[in-house]
Amino acid sequence: MPGLTPGRRWQPAYSPFKKQNFGDRALQVLEYSVKGPLFGCRMCGNCLLQETALICPMECPKGLRNGPCGGSTSERCYVDETRPCIWYKIYERSFALGREELLLEVLPPLDWEKVGTDSWRDIFRQVAKVGVGKTVRGLLSRSAEVRKDTWDGIFRPVRQPDWWNGDSKYHAPAYTEPASELERRLAAGEFVVTSEIAPPLSSTTDKLIQSIEKVKPYVTALNFTDNASAMPRMTSWACSTVALDYEAEPVLQISARNRSRSNLQSEVIGATALGVRNILCVTGDSAKLSPSPREKMEINDLDAIQMLWILRRMRDEGKYLDGREMKIPPKFFLGAAASPFASEPRFQALREQKKINAGAQFFQTNLVYDITGMEMWLEDLAKRNVLDKVYILIGVTPIKSLNMAVTLSKVPGVRMPERIIQRMDYANTAGNAQE
Ligand code: SF4
Repeated sequence: MPGLTPGRRWQPAYSPFKKQNFGDRALQVLEYSVKGPLFGCRMCGNCLLQETALICPMECPKGLRNGPCGGSTSERCYVDETRPCIWYKIYERSFALGREELLLEVLPPLDWEKVGTDSWRDIFRQVAKVGVGKTVRGLLSRSAEVRKDTWDGIFRPVRQPDWWNGDSKYHAPAYTEPASELERRLAAGEFVVTSEIAPPLSSTTDKLIQSIEKVKPYVTALNFTDNASAMPRMTSWACSTVALDYEAEPVLQISARNRSRSNLQSEVIGATALGVRNILCVTGDSAKLSPSPREKMEINDLDAIQMLWILRRMRDEGKYLDGREMKIPPKFFLGAAASPFASEPRFQALREQKKINAGAQFFQTNLVYDITGMEMWLEDLAKRNVLDKVYILIGVTPIKSLNMAVTLSKVPGVRMPERIIQRMDYANTAGNAQE
């Protein structure tokens, strides 16, 4: 167990992609021999320990670099139940040390050219740039502000490269006319209902069209999931295109689990060119939930917050992640999933705020059965002054049987109060569970 981290390093450290010379390897071994035992470092080469209360987040099996997933709990990681959720531990320590606001900074995805290499050299370069004398004087200053500025002047450029430039601020959308009917109605203060349709398992669209036609009169938009539970189905954008053909407004769900950064950008450009105007970014269920044989379970190229940051900048600044300019940027209303019942309300509220800052304009929550718990989460969001910056659609689904109630109670991020299970149990025994 590493000395200063509650996590345990199950996975080995990363190896560099390219062959390195002796000097590079020596520095890498030295850095790992210090940071590994102390912080659980896995040599991601893109160090962000400054922001994560000195716990390396790369132990998270989803590779998340911006906070816990919707399945995080105080007890364990839902992907690997033999270890704690490392992000829960990071949040716990940050709150205990009063460093939680640092967690709001939107951190970049890995630069895979650096993975497996040392990050000390970047720090030394930065010190040289600022000036060794100035750095030493700054760090020894009596003023806490000067010490902080000096520290940030060294570490911020290392963890926030120019191609990312993440921060902790709210960025209002840079457009005024609603991008979609969903946005128009929410902005008008209407009570809005959306419905989720599971994409078909086969390549025929008959059933999909039937479902769209059946639900369309009652809802503003239709969500199409993106391989929920890591199980392959028809793609969300194909279903969204069918919905558009039948004059229904789709919400295209995109999960980070199956996306690389280039694939995300190209897919969104394609989908918006076809008429999709609502996009919901989710990190996605772990491949652990998928049927065997399982795909790579360890790491995602992106997380939901990074997706939001990339897409918001694409829309509002007309830029690809690599800095290339776009003549005609895509137009869309950007959403994210919210989890009132993962980890703790105050942790989740901070994570939700980070999503809003990154670009989320609306939330669709996990299923809610515990109203008191949801109110606690809303109160924590109110304390963070974000309720006027995001529209919230609460997730509900009717429970049809005792079995369904029990199954839902085991879904990560869903809290099923015992009284509902008991009530379904009585109804089941009486033979009127559906009613
Ligand atoms: S519960 Fe989620 S955030 Fe926490 S370590 Fe596991 S995969 Fe990562």
